[in-house]
Amino acid sequence: MNKQIAVIKGDGIGPEIVDEALRVLDRIGEKYGHQFTYTYVDAGGCAIDKYGEPLPEESVQKCLASDSVLLGAVGGPKWDALDGAMRPERALLGIRSRLGLFSNIRPSKLFAPLASACPLKQEIVNQGLDLVIVRELIGGAYFGKRETLMTEGGKTSYDTMIYSEKEVERIVRVAFDMARKRRGKVTSVDKANVLESSRLWREVAHRVAAEYPDVEFADMLVDNTAMQLVRNPSQFDVIVTENMFGDILSDEASMITGSIGMIPSSSLGEGTRGMYEPIHGSAPDIAGQNKANPIATILSVAMMLKYSFDMEAESADIENAVEAVLREGYRTGDIMDEGGVLLGCREMGDKIISKL
Ligand code: NAD
Repeated sequence: MNKQIAVIKGDGIGPEIVDEALRVLDRIGEKYGHQFTYTYVDAGGCAIDKYGEPLPEESVQKCLASDSVLLGAVGGPKWDALDGAMRPERALLGIRSRLGLFSNIRPSKLFAPLASACPLKQEIVNQGLDLVIVRELIGGAYFGKRETLMTEGGKTSYDTMIYSEKEVERIVRVAFDMARKRRGKVTSVDKANVLESSRLWREVAHRVAAEYPDVEFADMLVDNTAMQLVRNPSQFDVIVTENMFGDILSDEASMITGSIGMIPSSSLGEGTRGMYEPIHGSAPDIAGQNKANPIATILSVAMMLKYSFDMEAESADIENAVEAVLREGYRTGDIMDEGGVLLGCREMGDKIISKL
């Protein structure tokens, strides 16, 4: 198969981790007879420096012309003082909305060799941790009308959390379809005791659930979910929720699996083209020092192969290679434990490639 991938290396550790992921992809291409070609795309802080804006139209067009997009990370202190619309992170929101990527899928799985990195009690860890958060990505408060007004007592600001039935329905369906391929359980998370948009969310979720009688279904309030994730995470299979709740809960879920440097994510729309990226940021504190963990980006490539290119075996090959390297005790700094062998970003890439 021939696949054209738009590659956004971005800022900070972005270029280092993406380089390792592309080397893994090249090895997969070689092993399975696929050809992956890359179009490099500027977005984020480096695009601000070059073009004066975080997401030039040319970059969007390159992504639209690709079979899928791979992103490292964007942002950093250099651009922190810029205005909201000019910040590097705007590039992410722009790509998501221009490509119609309404669902963000983040698996949180505890790799057995990293169990000691999990901050939860051993008896909780022993029950296993393997859940997926399906987050609505282009609606809610992050995209609703917002404003800062000058009022009598000083400034007043508001953001609007807005959802249509159609927006809720399509993301809830993604969750139910995914649950059918996993352990068959969906938890829909809202704040229906307070928010009107959550009451609509709940109504639509129940309507969709009725079409999937084979999938176990439950509602849960977001505050309770935050608590249950650390109290008893093994109760969850697929969690589906709106944009802001999903943003917060998925960071919490990633932390309980050990390290932010391990978690991939995919953002998908109606078709097969998606954007794949690690959930962490550009880690400016370790950028350019060969210290970054490339595994989240490498696993993002594995997700791309599975969800966008239907290459299940190739994807599983990468996941198994990562697990094998971890089992042999190789670690980057962020997941280092007693008795582990410390590797740099490049060397971790080498080790994983050696297993493919
Ligand atoms: P961060 O995720 O970049 O870093 C948090 C901590 O985790 C740091 O100590 C960092 O060194 C460590 N870390 C992150 N990824 C790692 C990896 N792969 N290997 C080893 N250690 C890793 O979050 P932050 O510090 O809050 O943000 C830094 C910049 O990244 C900010 O400008 C922020 O806006 C941006 N950001 C971008 C994205 C994105 O591009 N998707 C997401 C979040 C934050």
